[in-house]
Amino acid sequence: MAPRYLIETFGCQMNVHDSSRMEEALRARGWEACTSEDDADLIVFNTCSVREKAEHKLRSEVGRLRPIKRARPELIVAVAGCVAQQEGERLLTEIPHIDIVVGPDNLADLPELAEAARLGGLPVARTVFDVESPTFLGADPGPHREGSPVTAFVTTMKGCDERCSFCVVPYTRGPERYRSMQEILEEIARLVAAGVQEVTLLGQTVNSWQPPETTTVKSIAGSAEPRPSFRGEASHFPELLRAIAREIPLLRRLRYTSPHPRHVTPELVAAHAELDVLARHVHLPSQSGSDRLLKRMLRRYTRAELVERSHMLRDSRPGTTLSTDIIVGFPGETEQDFLETLSMIREVGFIAAFGFKFSPRPYTPALKLADDVSEAEKAERLARLFSTVEALQQAHLLTLVGSRANVLVEGTSKPGGTKGRTDGLVPGRDGGPAHMRMMGRSERNEIVHLDLPPGLDGRMLVGRFLDVRIERANAHSLVGALDESTLRSLPALAEPPRQAVRLQVVAG
Ligand code: SF4
Repeated sequence: MAPRYLIETFGCQMNVHDSSRMEEALRARGWEACTSEDDADLIVFNTCSVREKAEHKLRSEVGRLRPIKRARPELIVAVAGCVAQQEGERLLTEIPHIDIVVGPDNLADLPELAEAARLGGLPVARTVFDVESPTFLGADPGPHREGSPVTAFVTTMKGCDERCSFCVVPYTRGPERYRSMQEILEEIARLVAAGVQEVTLLGQTVNSWQPPETTTVKSIAGSAEPRPSFRGEASHFPELLRAIAREIPLLRRLRYTSPHPRHVTPELVAAHAELDVLARHVHLPSQSGSDRLLKRMLRRYTRAELVERSHMLRDSRPGTTLSTDIIVGFPGETEQDFLETLSMIREVGFIAAFGFKFSPRPYTPALKLADDVSEAEKAERLARLFSTVEALQQAHLLTLVGSRANVLVEGTSKPGGTKGRTDGLVPGRDGGPAHMRMMGRSERNEIVHLDLPPGLDGRMLVGRFLDVRIERANAHSLVGALDESTLRSLPALAEPPRQAVRLQVVAG
């Protein structure tokens, strides 16, 4: 019987993406996925160390396996990702039932390390950055089939050259390394051929992308000259966006995450204005609206610059929306600093925000600053942040009631949206027939739930773009409906999605 693996993923989209690549590498070597720890021969924890809470959770989850490992010594326990990189061999000493520690740049080695462990090899830590010749594990989507994902992430770069004083990422992911334009285009083309409709470009500072030294930018994008950014630095990211739009015209929607405000250039704004494929939404981490704190955080932009660039992006195309990340309780944050953050959020008009309480992380410069905002104050500020953003979000969603949206159907609505069911079935009122509730996203990023007429199987709509009438707004999402004319055309929608992809890319 084939050996079986179970991967538990913590943290950001980058980790979710890395877990998928580890799965592909394991499957290529004959491993099979399983869903229960009892059935697994290999359990991998793909870890996050960006917040203290996530690291604690990882340690408690790995600790929980100790009795299982005692009962089944042949079980292989692996820790991957940022905590693996940060702690390295120390993890093997601290938690002796761990067999493998593997850093983000060494994920392709996991099958080989797991096979060695199965043959009785000693515990091993492999955490070497591939600085000299970076490699990027591309997705292998295979042929289009029912149930294939309709959205996908594509890595464009890894690591980070910023040194934000609160952030451990430069230490766990290493320096910036860029993927060639050709590799990026080829992966997107493969995904589109497999039925993917929407691609999100992924990178720690995705908009600082530059062609690696071996790539001939001139032959692809028509210019070898670095374009000036606000600070006189080069970013070729807008050229990458243009090349994707030009070379893969069948790609329907393109997003990217996460951009750094420092690299929001006039060229990037122009790309938003010109390229229909770009979603009308940008997640722009701002972290604070106080100049004093932005300086302490080493973010390298001022509040005025942040607001100006946000407005430029928002105004690039009508209806463009922005969301952000905010840290509350950074060392030295006063009530006045926090109020400036709230006023910045209102001034920009962010319609969503991920908020985090500051927690000191190893190696970071902020460790030298006193963590002097109490837990109670951090919690109170976080609650005020969320209520400010929710009010903005609710006002935004209400403006959309009665409008139309182009919605990409991603699947059935999740539990909670359908009272705990996972099949998207919503019980009918007063004992009436049940109907399916589907979930999709608008061209901005609003979640749109779609109630279908009873008897209509929504699974045939997955991967389709539908013209939806927005009927009402929930707290964080919209509810839409299909017009009679769209419903009448649904049999035609049952045709399989197009698969042919034109790809002409000059060598990188
Ligand atoms: S830009 Fe700053 S916050 Fe983002 S990954 Fe780099 S160091 Fe961390």
